[in-house]
Amino acid sequence: MDSCLFCRIIRGEIPAKMLHQDAHLVAFADIAPKAPFHILVVPREHVATLNDLAPEHDGLVGEMVRRGAALAAAHGYADSGFRTVFNCNADAGQAVFHIHLHVLAGRKLDWPPG
Ligand code: AMP
Ligand code: ZN
Repeated sequence: MDSCLFCRIIRGEIPAKMLHQDAHLVAFADIAPKAPFHILVVPREHVATLNDLAPEHDGLVGEMVRRGAALAAAHGYADSGFRTVFNCNADAGQAVFHIHLHVLAGRKLDWPPG
C-alpha cells in the first residue's frame, strides 16, 4: 500500500522509534503516547482492519500478542501490568487502517475505557 502510514514506516520512508523488527512484525513507539509506555506492534503485511483477518493470519496475530507482552515485560511492566488494544473502525477510533496492537503501561489504566 503506497500511501499507508504504517507501510511507509515499515519501508523506512517515515522515521519511527523502532523497538523490534523481525520477518513478520515491527514495533515502534506511538508518536502521541497515551501512557508512559505506549508502543504499536504492526505486521509487515498490510491488513486494513480486524474485519479483514483470515485464518491464515492466526499465527501472525498470535505473534503480535506475544511480542507485545514480551516488549512490555522487557520494559519492566510484566508484574505491574499493561493493556493491549486493537481498535476496529470508527466507533473504536481506528485512525490508521493497517492493523496494529497498542501496548500501554506505566500508569493505572481506567476500565471501562472511554
Ligand atoms: P488507532 O487510533 O488505533 O488507529 O491508532 C493509531 C495510532 O497511531 C495513534 O495512537 C497515533 O498516535 C499513532 N501514530 C500516528 N502517526 C504515527 C507515527 N508517524 N508514528 C508513530 N505512531 C503514530
Ligand atoms: Zn499498510
